[in-house]
Amino acid sequence: SADSVSEHIAAATAHSAHNYKPLPVVLAEGEGAWVTDVTGRRYLDFLAGYSALNFGHRNPELLGAAQRQLERLTLTSRAFHNDQFAPYVRALARLVGKDQVLPMNTGVEAVESAIKVARKWGYEVKGVPEGAATIVVAGGNFHGRTTTVISFSQDADAYTGFGPYTPGFRVVPYGDADAVAEAIDETTAAVLVEPIQGEAGVVVPPTDYLPRLRDLCDQRRILLIADEVQSGLGRTGTVLACEHAGIEADAYVLGKALGGGILPVSAVVADSDVLGVLQPGQHGSTFGGNPLACAVGREVVRLLEEGPYLADARRLGEKLHARVQGFLGRGLVAVRGLGPWAGLDVDPALATGRQLCERLAERGVLVKDTHGSTIRLSPPLTLSAEDLDWGLDQIESVLTEL
Ligand code: PLP
Repeated sequence: SADSVSEHIAAATAHSAHNYKPLPVVLAEGEGAWVTDVTGRRYLDFLAGYSALNFGHRNPELLGAAQRQLERLTLTSRAFHNDQFAPYVRALARLVGKDQVLPMNTGVEAVESAIKVARKWGYEVKGVPEGAATIVVAGGNFHGRTTTVISFSQDADAYTGFGPYTPGFRVVPYGDADAVAEAIDETTAAVLVEPIQGEAGVVVPPTDYLPRLRDLCDQRRILLIADEVQSGLGRTGTVLACEHAGIEADAYVLGKALGGGILPVSAVVADSDVLGVLQPGQHGSTFGGNPLACAVGREVVRLLEEGPYLADARRLGEKLHARVQGFLGRGLVAVRGLGPWAGLDVDPALATGRQLCERLAERGVLVKDTHGSTIRLSPPLTLSAEDLDWGLDQIESVLTEL
């Protein structure tokens, strides 16, 4: 009932930190692209857990893999081998076209891990003087919430009040390869970028940006690290968003959808000349590489290799972009994105992103605003054409009413 919604929200507000401001819906069940709240009301999920739910809620194949593993073995720690580990890391490395995997849990942990590996590679392989390694990153980045990672955030909310900060990062404008060229020197171990910036509002860089970063990194012996936590694993209709630019990174950071929307699973994937800098005891995680995560992660790899998801995502993306382009000038001032992933900028004179999200929730569509006037669409790749159209009908109606 409505009472149970307000009771739940009051209790959540009283007993949890206020580091989020959720929309006032209390969800209880999910199936595919749809979720149901505690009152029985259904919503189309156009956020899909920020791309953690690329395969939809409770995908039967992923649930099956998890359930089978729940009956066998869930956690060993890395003190021992487990029989799910090798098949998983071999499959994931092959999917990405690298030799090795460093398994972690959350996205930001994998980013932190990539930073540690890049610095160590800088000292041991490149010969950067100890303690001097630098990493070039992009303005507007979002790589997570740890102290080191927010040290190079330009988002005041993410950054302010959390110092002292980790040194060693140089921030240059996103999409500007010349600025990267100017920022790198003999201390530079890595360039860390999102191939498409998700949190920033689905920002697609100029087409020559990633190829130019690839050339610069090759010429100056620098690791190119692609944070594909949000962009990877089908979100743009390919396994990796880097594929659209025709380049390979030296290391990929993966997360979100790697856990199938069931549990946190992340990884750094790279060749052994990069991950080989880690020796026993130098890095680790109690939960990283646990059998349950490996079983689910391997099924995610299988779905990407064998399932219809990539082709479906491309079709969905074409339909989505064809329609949202038509909303330009009718409440929207800009539209960006690739595949079933779009950032829509609402005219700030008409409404905030948050207001749009609230009105869409009233009409049964869940989306999330970012940076004031942007809303991000990232529906499950499994969304049907009819549901896509219905969801976009709701967006069109809300925009018309502004
Ligand atoms: N990197 C990117 C590109 C992301 O979009 C995110 C999350 O939104 C992260 C890292 C952090 O992932 P997590 O929230 O799992 O730590």
